[in-house]
Amino acid sequence: MDLIEKSKKYLWLPFTQMKDYDENPLIIESGKGIKVKDIDGKEYYDAFSSVWLNVHGHRKKELDDAIREQLDKIAHSTLLGMTNIPATELAENLVGIAPHSLSRVFYSDSGAEAMEIAVKMAYQYWQNIGKTNKQKFISIKNGYHGDTIGAVSVGSIDIFHKVYGPLMFKGFKTSVPNVYRYPAENPKKCRDEALETLESILKDHHEEIAGLTIESMVQGAGGMIVMPEGYLSGVRELCTKYNVLMIIDEVATGFGRTGKMFACEHEEVEPDLMAAGKGITGGYLPIAITYTTEKIYEAFYDDYTNLKTLFHGHSYTGNQLGCAVALANLDLFKKDQIVQQIAQKSEYLNELFKDLADLPHVGDIRQLGFMCGIELVYDKQTKSPFPFESRVAYKSSLKMRELGLLTRPTGDVVVFMPPLASTKEDLKAMIEIIKEAIKCVSAEEALQIDRKNSQVAR
Ligand SMILES: *Cc1c(COP(=O)(O)O)cnc(C)c1O
Repeated sequence: MDLIEKSKKYLWLPFTQMKDYDENPLIIESGKGIKVKDIDGKEYYDAFSSVWLNVHGHRKKELDDAIREQLDKIAHSTLLGMTNIPATELAENLVGIAPHSLSRVFYSDSGAEAMEIAVKMAYQYWQNIGKTNKQKFISIKNGYHGDTIGAVSVGSIDIFHKVYGPLMFKGFKTSVPNVYRYPAENPKKCRDEALETLESILKDHHEEIAGLTIESMVQGAGGMIVMPEGYLSGVRELCTKYNVLMIIDEVATGFGRTGKMFACEHEEVEPDLMAAGKGITGGYLPIAITYTTEKIYEAFYDDYTNLKTLFHGHSYTGNQLGCAVALANLDLFKKDQIVQQIAQKSEYLNELFKDLADLPHVGDIRQLGFMCGIELVYDKQTKSPFPFESRVAYKSSLKMRELGLLTRPTGDVVVFMPPLASTKEDLKAMIEIIKEAIKCVSAEEALQIDRKNSQVAR
């Protein structure tokens, strides 16, 4: 049996309708720099950083070496009740780059776990200090925090989450400031209205609310919704005012992605808890973290018999190979000035987008650093979307694949999240492919809809 047949016979892929996979299978064999190669030798730009992870490109020598070096010592030992060298060194480094409020690091293996842990910490914090009524969470509509049940409970994307409704714990949801869909695209009004909605919920319910969860500056999976200026800092003020812990999700935005080490730095926001993952190992191995303040940490610190311990952990927590490569990743951030570079290169990228924005079915292009989304609409004037069945962004991504570029859309939004190491030439080449694919597929889809409509009219 060849590999493609085996993949169809034995695998069940994450977040994938397997019927789609069966129609368009793909097996990656290797990668180098910002390209990956499939088993037939065809090369593709990794324009979504292998789902938002990759930083320095594939097979980066310093990262490869760090893993090999660690492997000569030990691959894994537990973090339950003891620690290891790279996990300890990495924790110090991570606290060094975090917002000042955050002083402790709790490890896990994925962004969803990191959020799940943040939620449990926030909940138990109030239990431990005797404010036992504070049990609920408030989260932002259209938010995404990962796929475990706790993370799904504070998430709010109907097509992913609705089916699990009865399994989820209940909480409050507040509106998201989506400027593109707001009348006259007025960012200030859009922001103020969202903050007012949030405040009205907090005013009535803060005594039962433990924490607020929010993606930092950009809703990723929800369609690359960039929050208007002053929103995140406004949310911080309200959390402080109503004594609710602010849990920031930097899983997608952290580690330079938006032009700051963490996106909350854009608004000098200091969270109470913060989850990060994805770019932390340069896209190499599954490490994620939950940061907390000393105040939260201290609420768990007591004699064992008082049972204030955080009873949470995973088999591979603090894995040495992962922590070693994360350390090397942070060294490269310094050495290659990754964050400063993104700030610069994203201006160039913004220029490239101007060309794309003129396409007839490109409704909106949203960008913060190297975190970008291109929203396709059927009618640019009315902003009316393509019908759900049309899957215009998905079909565009298949066309991009044909043209030698990989990405994965979220709804009707084409995602562009290239590795941070991408050069200006790389960006230009990638945007050209994306433009070509969008142009061709969106025109074809629109034509089919127009034909159907005119038949109905007749
Ligand atoms: C990807 C993502 C997660 C989940 O991370 P996993 O490592 O896939 O579990 C959580 N939050 C945000 C904002 C993400 O983009």
